[in-house]
Amino acid sequence: MKVEVGTAYYPEDWDNERVEYDARLMREAGMSYVRMGEFAWSHMEPRENIFEFKWLHDAVDIFGKNGVRTILCTPSSAAPAWMCRKYPGILRMKRNGERAWFGVRDHTCYTSKKYRELVLKTAGKMALEFKDDPNIAGWQIDNEAGCSRFPECFCPDCQAAFREYVRDKYKTLENLNDAWRTTFWSGEFFDWDELELEANWENMGSCRTVESKRFRSREQADFILCQAEAIRKIIPDALIGTNNYCGADRYEMFSKLDFAGNDFYPKVNADMYSTLLPVVRYRGLKQGVAPWMLETPPRPGWPVRDQMRFYFWLYVGQGYNPIFYFHWNSHLSGNEKLTQTIIGASGKPGVKYEMLKKLIAEADSVLSPYPGLSLPRCECAIIQDYEADWVYAVGFPERMEARSNTFFTCFSALSGLGATPEIISPDANLAEYKLVVMPLQAHIRKDIAEKLKEFVSGGGVLIMNGSSGMFDGNGKNLPEDGPQHVREIFGMTIGENRIFDSPKILAYDPSEEFARKNVVVSGSLDGMDAVGTAAQWTGYITVSSAEILLTFANSELKGRPFCTVNRYGKGYAIYFAADRIDQELCNRLVLYAAKKAGIIPVIYPAEVAVSKRDNLVFLSNFNDSAVEFKTGWKGRNLLGSSLRDGVITLPPRESAVVETASETP
Ligand SMILES: [Zn+2]
Repeated sequence: MKVEVGTAYYPEDWDNERVEYDARLMREAGMSYVRMGEFAWSHMEPRENIFEFKWLHDAVDIFGKNGVRTILCTPSSAAPAWMCRKYPGILRMKRNGERAWFGVRDHTCYTSKKYRELVLKTAGKMALEFKDDPNIAGWQIDNEAGCSRFPECFCPDCQAAFREYVRDKYKTLENLNDAWRTTFWSGEFFDWDELELEANWENMGSCRTVESKRFRSREQADFILCQAEAIRKIIPDALIGTNNYCGADRYEMFSKLDFAGNDFYPKVNADMYSTLLPVVRYRGLKQGVAPWMLETPPRPGWPVRDQMRFYFWLYVGQGYNPIFYFHWNSHLSGNEKLTQTIIGASGKPGVKYEMLKKLIAEADSVLSPYPGLSLPRCECAIIQDYEADWVYAVGFPERMEARSNTFFTCFSALSGLGATPEIISPDANLAEYKLVVMPLQAHIRKDIAEKLKEFVSGGGVLIMNGSSGMFDGNGKNLPEDGPQHVREIFGMTIGENRIFDSPKILAYDPSEEFARKNVVVSGSLDGMDAVGTAAQWTGYITVSSAEILLTFANSELKGRPFCTVNRYGKGYAIYFAADRIDQELCNRLVLYAAKKAGIIPVIYPAEVAVSKRDNLVFLSNFNDSAVEFKTGWKGRNLLGSSLRDGVITLPPRESAVVETASETP
């Protein structure tokens, strides 16, 4: 296998002589790709309908002659000055009526018909220009859609489109008022023109807020997909993706594109799990397709510590290919002139360039004996459902915090079993996993419930918690005991739910003072005492066929069931009645569930990330000190540090790739 390496390049900044020089350096370093064009609209179309592509053709040709192929990007995130001046209606509008302005990025409206017309014209022109060019390897649509200082547009085009969308969806105002239960706080609508988009974090609890989020997600996706369609119309087999897609349903987006691109900028002293989570997330967005790293800095952590090699091998372990560094050479001016680059403003190749060259040679040598290396696999997964997230948290910032923290706690606990879990959509094929965690699935669609039934009855183990299944798809409380559609799987019902004061969670402490201020739960897991804390939300469990594992140990809930397990078909469904629990208790529950699922946990030292691809084990030591641990592996570390008699030593912030004798070390 070859890991292809690329970089972002801006030929609009340089003359052909400099492009030749840079292309030669890239060839000598063994690089495969450049990504170009994503902010170059004013250079492609300096005046309306006057297109100039010669400079871009020249750059694509020069790189092509040097064996470096191009990923061409549509420039729709950077509308030029003339366009913003001539068509001010394309600029995003804040709720107070203030328009965005030229000079920032992502300042244009995803819904605006005029803007889409301008965008599609340019995307179509680009496709016509480059349709027969063998040096074009693929396309990137837009750049980091959804990452804007104006994340929500309230312009008249958006308001009109929202009205059209809800009218089409609900047909009559009676249906809409009923579906959203608008009576509280005088919320009923008697004329379609009364309807307006809502902001994410306002009008708490309103179904209109959830519907606004859903509408915006759809508009953002359409904005990307209409450009992909314009290119595919001219180049039917074009390979198309986008990068760092934010604030909308990522599964919906990437199900319609060819690859999912991540932009990841590691923090110098970030802990392992908060680094892994955004890296792993892109693995599950297009199952079975290698994720692309479309932007990552060339020397993360420099000058405290240089971690280019460390992160490179972490990405490879997680299946990323290609890997693009952002970016090649420093701009002389503009917003990103201070961004870290491979080549500085002087143009002289220095330490960073030499490191990258060495790294590419190392990767070629280490991986060439493994031409068909599989993507990383794990027996367990965690479900992230964007729609359910909106139902749970939109309108309530503190609930979004609780949602993120709970997801993180479960992800960390699953990772503790020995390999980083996959993050998947509820629509993914669950049969590939033995253990699935579905944290805070506020709304459980009926078709998802059917999949869960099939998964558990077939022998899978499922963990769910808190206010899962307590809301309908619009975010309304359900007038019935929960969890909706899955009561039979879990062998219990939840009623009389309530919210605690704080989404914060503290690690369990046996003192009396702690017990006076926190909710404590206790019981037994696999014959061993278990104790922990619960927060944010709880409900009254009434057991039908489930067995009680843990109960509330204090508070008004003392003695009531807290955590249950139910045998359903060949598998088990485990539920705990809090939106948040402490990490230690979550680890214990996941270990208990893993045993039921027939997973043998492999315990690695803390802060060592592990992923497995066929008979290669990728290890990354996030500790600031060396770790040494014993394994059962008979093999060798392909990256050099020692592996003797099964004992491996990993220096601080270094990676290892261990070739083992079999696929299950
Ligand atoms: Zn708008």
